[in-house]
Amino acid sequence: MKNYEGSCGCGAIHYSFAGEPINSVFCYCKECQVRTGSDKWFGLWVPKDKLTFTKGSPASFTRPGDSGQAMNHLFCGDCGTNLCVEVTVADFYSVAAPTIRGDQQLSPKMAIYTASAPDWAVFPEGVPQFDILPPGLGD
Ligand SMILES: [Zn+2]
Ligand SMILES: [Zn+2]
Repeated sequence: MKNYEGSCGCGAIHYSFAGEPINSVFCYCKECQVRTGSDKWFGLWVPKDKLTFTKGSPASFTRPGDSGQAMNHLFCGDCGTNLCVEVTVADFYSVAAPTIRGDQQLSPKMAIYTASAPDWAVFPEGVPQFDILPPGLGD
């Protein structure tokens, strides 16, 4: 089974997870724009029990998601890198793909919250797009 390892910019926090992500998603919601300073968050969805922090422990802040359930944002308290979001309504982490180390050949499988994207956003070709979420997800 493939093992993924990632870390924040300063190296204080390391994490790993085994197996392929259950989804890989470009999210263009406003919150992700604010958190990343770009048009989107590239999230790898990993079941909560598959991911472990192998060095350090992340700082966090919590906000309510669209579902009303908590979204726990985990980030490095030293360098500020966003590492992942714990989506409590569905018990998975959305791991920031750019924090994965090594050449992992990761690509998005869907684009969500595209209705919130800035005018200059460029969507990936050949990938399903959803104004908000695909039917059955997140509601
Ligand atoms: Zn750091
Ligand atoms: Zn988002």
